[in-house]
Amino acid sequence: MRRTLIKHALQRDDFGATITVAGWIRTRRDSKGGFSFLEVNDGSSFASLQVIADGSLDNYESEVLSLNIGSAISATGELVESPGAGQRVELRATEITVFGYADPETYPLQKKRISFEKLRELAHLRPRTNTFGAVARVRNALAFATHRFFQDRDFLYLHTPIITASDAEGAGEMFQVTTLGNASSAGPDGTLDPAEDFFGRRTFLTVSGQLEAETYALALDRVYTFGPTFRAENSNTRRHLAEFWMVEPEMAFADNHDNADLAEDYLRYLVRHILDHCADDLAFFNRWVDEGLLERLELVAGSRFERVTYREAVEALQGSGEAFEFPVEWGSDLQSEHERYLTETTFGRPVIVTDFPFDIKAFYMRRNDDGETVAALDVLVPDVGEIIGGSQREERLDVLEDSIARKGLPAETYWWYLDLRRFGSAPHAGFGLGFERLVQFCTGMQNIRDVIAFPRTPKSAEF
Ligand code: ATP
Ligand code: MN
Repeated sequence: MRRTLIKHALQRDDFGATITVAGWIRTRRDSKGGFSFLEVNDGSSFASLQVIADGSLDNYESEVLSLNIGSAISATGELVESPGAGQRVELRATEITVFGYADPETYPLQKKRISFEKLRELAHLRPRTNTFGAVARVRNALAFATHRFFQDRDFLYLHTPIITASDAEGAGEMFQVTTLGNASSAGPDGTLDPAEDFFGRRTFLTVSGQLEAETYALALDRVYTFGPTFRAENSNTRRHLAEFWMVEPEMAFADNHDNADLAEDYLRYLVRHILDHCADDLAFFNRWVDEGLLERLELVAGSRFERVTYREAVEALQGSGEAFEFPVEWGSDLQSEHERYLTETTFGRPVIVTDFPFDIKAFYMRRNDDGETVAALDVLVPDVGEIIGGSQREERLDVLEDSIARKGLPAETYWWYLDLRRFGSAPHAGFGLGFERLVQFCTGMQNIRDVIAFPRTPKSAEF
């Protein structure tokens, strides 16, 4: 079947041409004049194509009049200028082929609006709705723009492993990977011996590709990863998933200022890209999901980000007079409410917070001269809060060994990571962007479960 995608059909003006389109019925309206209007959508664009099915079609009575919402068809016919408002072109069908009906008694996606909560239970059908089609297209555009941004700047795309023996954050919230699942593999005392396991040791699903990416940055200078990461934290919030995607650039011969510049350029580039390429989808989100969306995106595309130290951020929050649920004091992690207050109220634009206390950050972050803080950065954006976390990495062997010891981590498992500091060590820096938080920010979708195809959260992995 030679097919024209609906997004292309909608842009054509060679009226009179014969084309074939295929897709799913969004609505059917029957006219008293003995013909029907079929609104057909194939997901290639937000807009659907109106198809006129005349009563003279062979299968008009027998098939076309049974086409309900969700049925799959193809239609061949003449592209004509549309007399109706709201569309430029329509298709006058000379042939309609039905592939699959959808029984209106049992097909759940009828015209009536369904809540996002309910649609999560229909994750196999929700891509056929306006909202989830639009999310999928914006997500795709952001992935494409990510590769283009880094490739244009000579970053090399690196695939880091998903199964790992090291705990990048030292936080211990990891899913264990094991084939020792049953009682028969347990020892006499009922315990499972890691030496007997598939890899001969304890292994986990990775929480970050960073440590491995550092090995390549210290050989190839600029690299980035873009892959799935996993956290077994029991966070039932609107911005945490157990499985999410992360984009992690890593640069050699770079400090935390270079890192902040890269993060800011990257975010601005992404937002500019979707403003230029996803106008229809963004207009839909702005109208139905989040009225402030376009204004917020324009703000990010057009403004320099504020840069403050953690100390300055804490002082600003303390001086704000705002009654926060969690108290703000030097040494405690910023909560979501604090992050949002800084970016939405204090500064009114994206904020890069740097130089956090050593005690609340990961072992690999570079110690500042004050001995108390590390060269970390968090990028905060309105509505979402933290979207990026990163740092300059500790390149001094003795300081890194000291940090590992002070965090109580097992130095043996980091032998290869420490080798990078033994042989040709160099300053380097990088960050991790949570891809779903980015999609949330760019669509205004409130719940992170609605910006990934099949969300994994505590007690939920149906599909
Ligand atoms: P948070 O404090 O918001 O839980 P974090 O500081 O633990 O995040 P990092 O380890 O810095 O997160 O991870 C880098 C980025 O990955 C974060 O800035 C965020 O955008 C994203 N991220 C972290 N955890 C999750 C999660 N559970 N689900 C979705 N995205 C996440
Ligand atoms: Mn973080």
